[in-house]
Amino acid sequence: MTGEGDCIFCNIAAGSMPCFKFYEDDQAIGFMDIFPAADGHALLISRSHWTDVFAIDDESVRGVASAVRRAAVAVHQVLSPDGLNIVQANGEAAGQTVFHYHVHLLPRTTGEKLRMHGKERGDDARLRELAAAYARVLNDAE
Ligand code: AMP
Ligand code: ZN
Repeated sequence: MTGEGDCIFCNIAAGSMPCFKFYEDDQAIGFMDIFPAADGHALLISRSHWTDVFAIDDESVRGVASAVRRAAVAVHQVLSPDGLNIVQANGEAAGQTVFHYHVHLLPRTTGEKLRMHGKERGDDARLRELAAAYARVLNDAE
């Protein structure tokens, strides 16, 4: 469960890789997905390295779930999407590409298909703006 040097999300958690962060606590870190499947697509990861739902312990999964709930409220407040999917993939067949436990927050627009992965890198200015807006709501709620 310790950090792994070649794990992107461990590097983000350690601060050695940049991200558009909007949240962090003892158990979880929230940042924007850089290949957004939808405007506002965000990720919550466990602070410690756990590969997937089969590996993670109760304390960590609870910590991430609590951060997910709060972040969902922030997404709802900032973007007022038509809907919001909370998705978590385990294993390649399920679409998992980063093998460090994480949860996707996917804002939805009526009539648009659910996608987990974006095709293009997001616009830095937009990712920064959204991360700041989510962070403001989360800080105000504390
Ligand atoms: P999954 O396919 O569920 O494993 O999701 C991994 C997600 O991480 C994908 O949606 C990627 O776009 C996203 N991702 C990969 N590298 C980064 C990064 N450096 N910063 C933010 N998001 C990332
Ligand atoms: Zn990791």
